[in-house]
This record gives sequence, structure tokens and C-alpha cells, in this order.
Amino acid sequence: MGQRAVVIGAGITGTLVAHALATRGWTVTVLEAQHVGAGSSSRTAAGIRQQFSTPETVMGMRYAVDQYRNFPERVGGAEVPIVQNGYLFLLATQEAVAAAQARARMQQACGLADVEYLDVGELVTRFPWVARHAVLGATWCPSDGFLHPATVYNEAAAAAQRLGVELVQRAPVTGVERSGATIDALLTPRGRFVADVVIDATNAWSPRLARLLGATELPIAPLKRYLWFAERAGSMGGEALAAMPLVIAPGGAYCRPESGASMLMGWAHEALPEPDFDYEDQDRIEPGFSHRSGAESVAYETWATLAEVVPQLEEFAGITSTTAGFYATTPDHNPFLGYDPEVKNLIRLVGFSGHGAMFGPFTALIGASLADAGRNMTHVSALGRDISIDAFRIGRELRHGELLVI
Ligand SMILES: Cc1cc2nc3c(=O)[nH]c(=O)nc-3n(C[C@H](O)[C@H](O)[C@H](O)COP(=O)(O)OP(=O)(O)OC[C@H]3O[C@@H](n4cnc5c(N)ncnc54)[C@H](O)[C@@H]3O)c2cc1C
Repeated sequence: MGQRAVVIGAGITGTLVAHALATRGWTVTVLEAQHVGAGSSSRTAAGIRQQFSTPETVMGMRYAVDQYRNFPERVGGAEVPIVQNGYLFLLATQEAVAAAQARARMQQACGLADVEYLDVGELVTRFPWVARHAVLGATWCPSDGFLHPATVYNEAAAAAQRLGVELVQRAPVTGVERSGATIDALLTPRGRFVADVVIDATNAWSPRLARLLGATELPIAPLKRYLWFAERAGSMGGEALAAMPLVIAPGGAYCRPESGASMLMGWAHEALPEPDFDYEDQDRIEPGFSHRSGAESVAYETWATLAEVVPQLEEFAGITSTTAGFYATTPDHNPFLGYDPEVKNLIRLVGFSGHGAMFGPFTALIGASLADAGRNMTHVSALGRDISIDAFRIGRELRHGELLVI
């Protein structure tokens, strides 16, 4: 191939797409404003599920699970970065049950063979820690789970460098040289980098990068999201905790084991977009969301809400920490994956709406396929079939979106 690609951003997306491009013969440079993992990729709950309402995403996440399971052979490192404890969506109304059953049938038709609906009897037989009185049923997929995100971006960066990728950290893109609608070079305090193709992998920073590059400003809102960590105590043993799936309560609060000693918890909340956030803002905790604010905080509300469906959580010792980061949320909760409408040689891989860690391998496949093709595409090839990427097209109608957002 011999062409030169410059990737902007070294999170899960940037490192994986750089690796994918290098395996296809591209000469690749990654420009990262701070350091590998400086953005949302180091602040994520890192859940990975194939249970989505968008068929393209169900198929893409089947591919992502397969790639993550085989990560040491396909990318590098010694550790498999996925823990397949499953995802359990708990349902509390007849309406939610009917919608979940229809979704499970659609997911099965997309090849997700192991997703199933459990009525409440089956649910408490398999998961005796669920409060029977609080739910009517659940959907369950044992091959879902969560990732070790630092393993993903560190090993992907290392593997990419072994293939000759140049990784330039502390190199924010601050300027651009263009010939008409084409980028010739990117300017950073660490030098000028020429490119045949440029890949925007900056996610929550993408709108301001777009302004800098003269590209299309996509509707992406950086929204603050929190995680809380509760210390195990009481009747749930360490092994039982470590084996738990990611559990989503009917109202959207979720939890999953961080280890045998700690439960990670999260719950999306109303938030105003913070388009000009800086790096420090990622870790800024508003008092009402901090566990330090005690029983009145959203931290404790989330814990109490989860304890309604998993009563043993009530016995936990307390919340020991609060962390935060930004989602890059789009109006339909699907990412934008495609060539920029205004800048010919710019590929946008952004707007992951809280799903960018799990999307990583699928995003990398799409990004590298687009770079090879030199134009937008309607499908990519994965797992022996053509997968439509229409749901992620820039310029799509944004009315009908992903319904399963947590
Ligand atoms: C609390 C929380 C929970 C989450 N839970 C999940 C989950 O369960 N599952 C899931 O899949 N996802 C989840 N996410 C979302 C996921 O973390 C992100 O979608 C994913 O990490 C995005 O990766 P990325 O590489 O695209 O972006 P980032 O990791 O944000 O990387 C972007 C990089 O671009 C760099 N950059 C920005 N501007 C420039 C510039 N001008 N020049 C050079 N470099 C630049 C930044 O420094 C940064 O390193 C969660 C996020 C949060 C905050």
C-alpha cells in the first residue's frame, strides 16, 4: 500500500485503528495531545455487550467480542482483555418484557445464539441473588462481559509500534495545511506531519478538532458520567462477587465486579454538555455525585437502587471512591463512522455515546476498510458475512436510534 495515515488520538479507538492500518501495510503516525489513554478510555466502565437494539451493532459487537477473545494472537500482549461474565438486563414491567423478548429474537436473527429471555422463576434459579419480588424477568447473554481497558490501549499501542507505527505523545494537533478540500499536513508543537489520510479518533474532543481542521461539526455532546466503587462485606463472598455479570436494574442503574473485593456501579443522569472541557475536568466530581457527600448523593442513591434488585449489596461496607469521565453522545446514540463530508481525506471515528470501548475492534475494522477503499462504504466484511454500517453513516437521519443506552 505504502500510503501514509495519521491518526489523531491514542485511546482505544486510535491505538486499535493504528494497529489495523499497519497490518494492512499503511505507514502510520499517531498524534496524541497528552499520553496513551489520556481520555475516556482510562475512565470507562468498559462493559461489552452484544445485546443492542440496532442490528448493525449486534453484529459488530459479535465481531468485537471475537476479536477481544483472541486479542493476544490478533493484536498482542499476553492477557486476554475480556472477562465474559455476561450481561443481565432486569425487567420490571410487562411492556419492558415484551420489548426485550422482541429484541432477543432480533439479536438471535443477527447470529447472537446465546441470548435468551428468562422468566422470573428461571432467573432466580440461575441467579439466586436477584430479588424475586422486584422483577418480572430478564434477558441474559453469557458471552457479554467487560474489558480491561488499559490492557487494550497499552497492548494495541505496543503492537502497533512493533509494526513500525510512530507514536508521538504530547503532540496536540494545533494547525492544519490544506489544499482545497484535502488535508496535506497536520501541525503540532512536535513537528509537521504529512498525510494521505487523516483519522479523527478524538471522540469527545472531535467537535473542536473539526473546527480546527475546517471539517463538519458533528452533533456530539460531551456529557459527564460517574462511576462509584463499593467495598464488599456481608454474605456475598469474594468468589461470588467476582463471578457476577454486569447487572442492569430496571431504571438503568448498573453494576459489575471490579474485583472480588469491589463492585463498580454507574447510572446515567441528566447533564448539560461541556463542549470546552479540559483534561482536569474529566476527573472533576460535582459534590452531589461524590460518595463523600454521603446518603444524599447520587452515589448512595445508585447503591440503594441497585440493592433493591440485588439485596446483598445493602450489606456492603460503603463506597470508597468516585471517578468520572465524558461520554461523547450523539442524538441517536450511534457513532459517526465515515469520511467527512467537507474534508475529502478525513475519516471520522467518533461519537461513541458510551460504547467506544466495546466498539474498538469493530471501529478499527471500519476505519481501516474505509482507508483502504478511499471512499465511504455501505458494508464491511466480518465473521463471514457482510455487515451493514448504515446506522453509523454521517448524514443519516438521526431520529431512530439505539434504544438500549446505559
Ligand atoms: C463513566 C464512563 C463509563 C463508560 N462505560 C462504557 C462501557 O461500559 N462500555 C464502553 O464500551 N464504553 C464505555 N464508556 C465510553 C468509552 O470509555 C469511550 O467511548 C471510549 O473510551 C472512547 O475511546 P476513544 O479512543 O474513541 O476516545 P478517548 O479515549 O477519549 O481518546 C481520545 C484521545 O484524543 C486525544 N486528543 C484530543 N484532541 C486531540 C488533538 N487536538 N490532538 C491530538 N490528540 C487529541 C485525547 O488526548 C485522548 O487521548 C464509558 C465512558 C465513561 C466516561
